[in-house]
Amino acid sequence: MIPVADGQARILAQVIRPLTPEAVGLTAGLGRVLARDVAAPFDVPPADNSAVDGYAIRAADLVAGGRARLRVVSDLAAGSTFEGALASGDALRIMTGAPMPAGADTVVPQELAERENGDVRLNAVAAGANVRARGEDVRAGAVVLRAGTVLRPQELGLLASLGQGDAWVHARPRVALLSTGDEVVEPGLPRKPGQIYDANRFSLHGLVEAAGAVSVDFGIVPDVRDVLRARLLEAGESADVVITSGGVSVGLYDLVKQVLGEIGGIDFWQVAMQPGRPFAVGKIGESHFFGLPGNPVASMLCFLLFVRPALWKLAGRRDLEPPRFTAVAAEPMTKKPGRREFKRGIVRFTERGWEVATTGPQGSGILSSMVLANCLIVLEEPRGDVGVGDVVLVELL
Ligand code: AMP
Ligand code: MG
Repeated sequence: MIPVADGQARILAQVIRPLTPEAVGLTAGLGRVLARDVAAPFDVPPADNSAVDGYAIRAADLVAGGRARLRVVSDLAAGSTFEGALASGDALRIMTGAPMPAGADTVVPQELAERENGDVRLNAVAAGANVRARGEDVRAGAVVLRAGTVLRPQELGLLASLGQGDAWVHARPRVALLSTGDEVVEPGLPRKPGQIYDANRFSLHGLVEAAGAVSVDFGIVPDVRDVLRARLLEAGESADVVITSGGVSVGLYDLVKQVLGEIGGIDFWQVAMQPGRPFAVGKIGESHFFGLPGNPVASMLCFLLFVRPALWKLAGRRDLEPPRFTAVAAEPMTKKPGRREFKRGIVRFTERGWEVATTGPQGSGILSSMVLANCLIVLEEPRGDVGVGDVVLVELL
């Protein structure tokens, strides 16, 4: 038996480098991973500008606590510039975002202004008020986004504000998905007695796409050596990663083992975790191979623990750890010391803080436990049974 963390480290060590970068238009960049550092080509904002609609003035023209009467020289909309400099005694009506005229250092909001013919009466504000300074967001030359960053909406906005029409991102890993088993049938087709519908290929499709990779469907493969061999070879040729589910438990162990032994290499792991065993890792040519358990909960969990970090690394991500936080157990939970257990949980925020309970029966074939869950309860190797009020780790699903 190997600990979960050892298995994870061994897999990540096999993913040597991320996939090659490509340029994509910004709107196609959502969720992609930046392949190069991005430095600002200019200051953002590029010039001092007004934060409000109001009057740009020289602070020296304001009388502390009193009202100043200044001459309005012109109107300035966002997108225009004021030629020349503002003289003492002058005010420029200015719109939010318009660049500050030379000579002005302060903007009085229009709520504190009263027009009188060509003049304006202004209540005093602090010197420098309502001016957004050039470069206050980003300084020219500063690295604003690092390679390995996942592009969220705010990163897309920042890239756009720097004038970039596209982003250099890593290619998305292509992941071939196959289900194995003579008993497994395609949903939508009739089912004979003894057969079950393929659940795993669909859960895994969702997990693959949610991890930022592209899933490629290779369908259901019967437990027939030559068919399995041909399909795996084909999958290995067209994808960076090949994932099967089923066929790695004792009964069929030999089939997957034989075939992978011929076309690449394979290692069967008994991981000290619950649920999840057994699990296989290997290579088909240049592609990474993961043989997930057939039980639907176990296959999802093995994906999250072992495959997702590998996909993230292939996609160039820097941070490979899912976020975790602590919650207080609302019910007792059984736990065997020596292995890591993952319960499906429901975590909620109460007046006492975060509380978590299990979803009920925890069998590794009970897919409805994943449906009810909004989190995994992660019980580390050394710990034993959990009592009500004990602190546990949770990971949102
Ligand atoms: P196996 O690892 O092939 O022995 O499968 C373990 C259990 O998972 C068996 O009960 C299988 O019927 C079930 N199983 C295998 N593949 C799938 C699948 N694609 N969808 C749902 N259940 C599956
Ligand atoms: Mg099977």
